[in-house]
Amino acid sequence: MSSGTDDGCDKCGHMDTEVGTISTTGGGLSKMFDIQTNSFKVVSCTNCGYSELYRDDTAGSSDIVDVFLG
Ligand SMILES: [Zn+2]
Repeated sequence: MSSGTDDGCDKCGHMDTEVGTISTTGGGLSKMFDIQTNSFKVVSCTNCGYSELYRDDTAGSSDIVDVFLG
């Protein structure tokens, strides 16, 4: 949040996000993404609700938020 290169939400430019976690074990999402892994971080824009999923083992939450905000 301090890099100075953030563009905000990809859809609306908003700078606030929520980070949650979802499990895909046996659910519809595992089919949707054709994967067997179990946990994802979900970063959602608090303004428009646009969300992206990130593998839970890729990075910490703050890094994910930086990716989301561009
Ligand atoms: Zn947004």
